[in-house]
Amino acid sequence: MKTHAQAVVIGGGLIGCSILYHLTKLGWSDVVLLERNELTSGSTWHAAAGIHGLHDHNNISKLQYYTMQLYAELERETGQGCGIFQPGALYLAQTRDREHQLRIQAAKARYFQVEFHELSRDEAERLHPLANFDDIRCIMYEPDGGNVDPSGVTHAYARGARQRGAEVHRFTPVVATRQRQDGSWDVETEQGSIHADVVVNAAGLWAREVAAMAGFELPLMPLEHQYFVTETIPEIEALGKRLPLIADRDGEYYLRQEGQGLLVGAYEKDGRYWAEQGTPMDFGHELLNDDLERIEENLLRAFERVPVLTEAGVKRVINGPMIWSPDSSALIGPVPELHNYFCCCGIIPGFSQSGGLGLTLAQWIIEGEPEMDLFPWDLARFGNWASKPFTKARTLDQYSHRYKIHFPYEEREAGRPLKTRPAYEKQKQLGAVFGLSYGYEHPLWYAPEGMEPVETYGFERQNWFEPVAAECRALREAVGIIDVSNFAKYRIRGEGSADYLDRLVANHVPAETGRSCLTPLIGLRGGIAGDFTITKLGEEDFLMIGSGIAERYHQRYFNMVEKVETVSFESFTEAWAGFNVAGPNARDLLGKLTDTDMSNDAFKFMRSRKIHIAGIDAVAIRVSFSGDLGWEIYVPVERQLELYEALLETGKDFGARPVGGRALLSLRVEKGYGSWSREYSPEYWPQEVGMERLIKLDKPEFLGRDAYLAIKDKPPREKLVMVRIEATNADASGGEPVFLVDGTPVGRVSSGAYGHSVKQSLALCFVKTEHALTDTKLEIAVLGRPHAAVILENAPFDARGERLRA
Ligand SMILES: Cc1cc2nc3c(=O)[nH]c(=O)nc-3n(C[C@H](O)[C@H](O)[C@H](O)COP(=O)(O)OP(=O)(O)OC[C@H]3O[C@@H](n4cnc5c(N)ncnc54)[C@H](O)[C@@H]3O)c2cc1C
Repeated sequence: MKTHAQAVVIGGGLIGCSILYHLTKLGWSDVVLLERNELTSGSTWHAAAGIHGLHDHNNISKLQYYTMQLYAELERETGQGCGIFQPGALYLAQTRDREHQLRIQAAKARYFQVEFHELSRDEAERLHPLANFDDIRCIMYEPDGGNVDPSGVTHAYARGARQRGAEVHRFTPVVATRQRQDGSWDVETEQGSIHADVVVNAAGLWAREVAAMAGFELPLMPLEHQYFVTETIPEIEALGKRLPLIADRDGEYYLRQEGQGLLVGAYEKDGRYWAEQGTPMDFGHELLNDDLERIEENLLRAFERVPVLTEAGVKRVINGPMIWSPDSSALIGPVPELHNYFCCCGIIPGFSQSGGLGLTLAQWIIEGEPEMDLFPWDLARFGNWASKPFTKARTLDQYSHRYKIHFPYEEREAGRPLKTRPAYEKQKQLGAVFGLSYGYEHPLWYAPEGMEPVETYGFERQNWFEPVAAECRALREAVGIIDVSNFAKYRIRGEGSADYLDRLVANHVPAETGRSCLTPLIGLRGGIAGDFTITKLGEEDFLMIGSGIAERYHQRYFNMVEKVETVSFESFTEAWAGFNVAGPNARDLLGKLTDTDMSNDAFKFMRSRKIHIAGIDAVAIRVSFSGDLGWEIYVPVERQLELYEALLETGKDFGARPVGGRALLSLRVEKGYGSWSREYSPEYWPQEVGMERLIKLDKPEFLGRDAYLAIKDKPPREKLVMVRIEATNADASGGEPVFLVDGTPVGRVSSGAYGHSVKQSLALCFVKTEHALTDTKLEIAVLGRPHAAVILENAPFDARGERLRA
């Protein structure tokens, strides 16, 4: 075993081997994988190993397609069989919502130019003569769907990596990981130690234990999962062809051919945790006691669908553990609090995603950032608020709703409320319906009197449409009070703060106290890693406000720029709460509560002041994400309720009312404002989203400057445009593909909403540059069906910003 390596991957399951393979493919050959036992010794060896292409998230779909195509290439390249069967997959819809979901996926497939299309019942019966399609309202077919051999694929990755110089050591458990002063790592095993530049935790079922070795926790919890395989079924043997998979998600089971029999598995409602307190180190190629009764309900539905199952004998039952994250997506990326420590854990559809995960992590390690925006996979989406009880509640909820449709804007109840701010009870009294925002309960909308504060979910407009309309109207016509405590707030103070910020962000940091600026943070590929408002509160004292969900994500970038010791960089996200008071009456309302002159002459747009309001010391910044006249007012969190009550009470004379996050979405979309992770992400170049004017190249240094210089003169690949959609009962919500009227795919929606004050269904879309022209007619696949749309020259609400500056 060598004593030094560029990277050591811990764990020789499917995912660790894929990471090793991709590291070598991208050029690192001095890499080692350490496996406790034989390769595949975790969840991998006993997986059903079904593969699918489409996913609700577009970039994840792209990586699933990459993975499905990779297996055949891997076989050719390594000579190791991967046991690939691709007889196709039949997706069945029993409900109207499921039909919408499948149609949306079919439209996305047209955009990705991959195969996923509707079949008639006759065609489906020809492909799967043993299935009963009686109660099915829509059938889609994915010709590439199928399954692979878990062991074959894992060994093929390992072999491919070895062929390019990697070392793989089996029966070499890692017992400790220690970081050196210079940030490199000693990875210790019973057979010796390896000094590594980079460590990767791909320890699957043991990811929690391996993380603990480095002193951090991962929000993961294993659960049991069962499937069974039947004896040979004569009807299948007689067919002499391979049957397609059946993805009957409403039936909550999966079903595919295995040998001359069938394999059926299910995610039951009554799931079982496994090894809650920690995965035993000596757990090997073992299975758990089976208990098919637990999945009986699901199985009965499978039997109805494919009646030959009723007569089939059970050949073997597999009950194995798999390890889940709180939202069932991967936890991937560098750990922000550590140096050169990466994870790729909590993988559920490993066989659909292994290639994409391996590629993404290898890019991240070698190139500093992945090529695609994969925030839904990024481990930084969870902070330390994702406690053990929360993780436990959420993972069971995810498991037992594995096949549930995830509707736009869906909020899951499990594990909540977790954290609340002082105004929570008052907001509840006012009818607030809450969502989870980086651990906190955050008001989404307010149910009017007489309406239960409970939201419905679906692809069409839901019960909150009218209440949100009323909130938008109130703000545009009078004044709205929006809780913006969920924004991330950072205070940068001490000698050298201005210099630090100047070397971090792309815009000039305000030189004058009381001024604010908007600024992008440029990523390592020249894209937009963040967008912030920076306010100079005093000499060497700055407040920086950014996206709340990205607090841990942004920490990685903040750490990339050196600070002198005198600079203190502190998060005030917990310590401060804020309200955006916005609308034509905002000035009059605030003027009643403070002696500060709020007039336009005294308090201009993009200026800030320390003010005394309702008896509380606060910071007021004249900005508003709603696009209306407004201020963000920040106070210590313990004074939040006091300020809220004062605003509401005094606001009665000015028509004020509480306004939630859903209304803010509508308001910012009709104003054409982008939002981080939707319109602004490292994947997009500044010139594609109209941010180039905020990048100051006269500064000698800022994060990502060289990367930006390298792409700055390239023509935009796509442009962000505002689009009006002819929609009547559903609005775009993000991810919908955009076509020209002749059906050519040209883009996708990044954010969508009904603009209540302009009475139009709107969307911000990325459209290929050559088609991103005013008045271009488009078709947007809302609900998976073409809806006429047109590119607007400007945002429909106050394009000239007169309201903002009033
Ligand atoms: C019953 C069942 C059915 C499934 N069906 C499907 C399916 O149809 N399709 C699909 O895509 N996915 C399926 N999965 C999920 C799939 O198995 C996982 O996504 C995948 O195997 C995860 O691989 P991994 O490499 O992350 O983890 P693991 O397979 O758990 O691998 C982790 C490896 O790390 C090693 N390790 C741990 N600690 C150490 C240490 N300290 N030092 C060295 N090595 C260490 C372990 O020995 C192990 O080999 C199924 C899972 C189960 C349980």
